Amino acid sequence: MRDFDFLKPATLAEAIAMRSSLGEEACLFAGGTALLLGMRQRLVNPKTVIALGGLADLRAIAFDSQHGLRVGALARHTDLARSPELRTHTPMLAHMAARMANPQVRNQGTLGGNLCYADPATDPPTALMALRASVVLAGPDGERTLAIEDFLVDYYATALGASEILKEIRVPPPAPGSRGIYVRHLRTAAEHRPVANLALVVERKGAVCTRARLVVGAATAVPCIAAKAGEYLTGKTVTLEVAAEAGRRLAQEITPISDLRGDGAFRRAIVGVIAKRAVAEAFGLDWKGAQA
Ligand SMILES: Cc1cc2nc3c(=O)[nH]c(=O)nc-3n(C[C@H](O)[C@H](O)[C@H](O)COP(=O)(O)OP(=O)(O)OC[C@H]3O[C@@H](n4cnc5c(N)ncnc54)[C@H](O)[C@@H]3O)c2cc1C
Repeated sequence: MRDFDFLKPATLAEAIAMRSSLGEEACLFAGGTALLLGMRQRLVNPKTVIALGGLADLRAIAFDSQHGLRVGALARHTDLARSPELRTHTPMLAHMAARMANPQVRNQGTLGGNLCYADPATDPPTALMALRASVVLAGPDGERTLAIEDFLVDYYATALGASEILKEIRVPPPAPGSRGIYVRHLRTAAEHRPVANLALVVERKGAVCTRARLVVGAATAVPCIAAKAGEYLTGKTVTLEVAAEAGRRLAQEITPISDLRGDGAFRRAIVGVIAKRAVAEAFGLDWKGAQA
């Protein structure tokens, strides 16, 4: 690792001013789980590291019924997993955060760092997209809010401006009677990162699906909304056959990536299966019993 200067701003305004004046020569440091690996491998060689750890306001997690959930960018994955606000109002997000990565990374890594790094093999972007989340970016000219699908641009690429800092993640209040399910598939039990994942939010009237949003991630460069599978489910009485058909349609709808961890055909097959199971689970159907 090369030598670098280390700055510790005390306020968000100070951090933005540092980032604006130092430009590309500086890197923001939240938990450091991604950044330090890059620096050790000399893939990233900042002259200055701006550590955000002193910005206590950016760790807060709060919920109110009008605006929904607000998560500070510096909240760690562990904070999300343990948060009473998340467990009560968006349990899918708490469930996801408790299972991703490993205890060391969950205790150190932040939600903001995860989103800004934009690694495709991650969990939070998929769950947040299904929940219609948005991000608040703070810069020298003020703040702007972007839907998460507009923030995540491509492989390791986001819409974050050179002088901006991700401040907060917002999730609208859940619709009454809605249910969220998050499923991740690992290639082997020893691996932490998902090879494919799926998040589903459905609104229900009994067994009838009145609205569905399905999002596939890790199998694609950036998470994608499976709109056709959602349209297929909407208005249907959900049975195991309907769940299986939704899975088949979703699998055909995505453009999967191929890499060393799995080719496109494998990923397509996996997302079809996990989508079927997630839809069945959302409607209380026993897909395990049906397979036995
Ligand atoms: C062994 C291992 C296993 C992992 N497994 C998983 C997994 O299963 N699922 C998963 O989702 N992820 C996984 N990850 C990734 C992990 O979630 C991220 O590394 C972590 O969340 C990044 O957060 P951080 O705070 O450490 O970011 P940092 O390393 O501090 O920063 C990452 C990048 O984001 C920028 N940045 C950070 N915060 C901000 C901000 N507020 N505004 C603007 N830019 C910012 C930094 O400049 C840097 O470019 C794993 C990582 C490791 C090392």
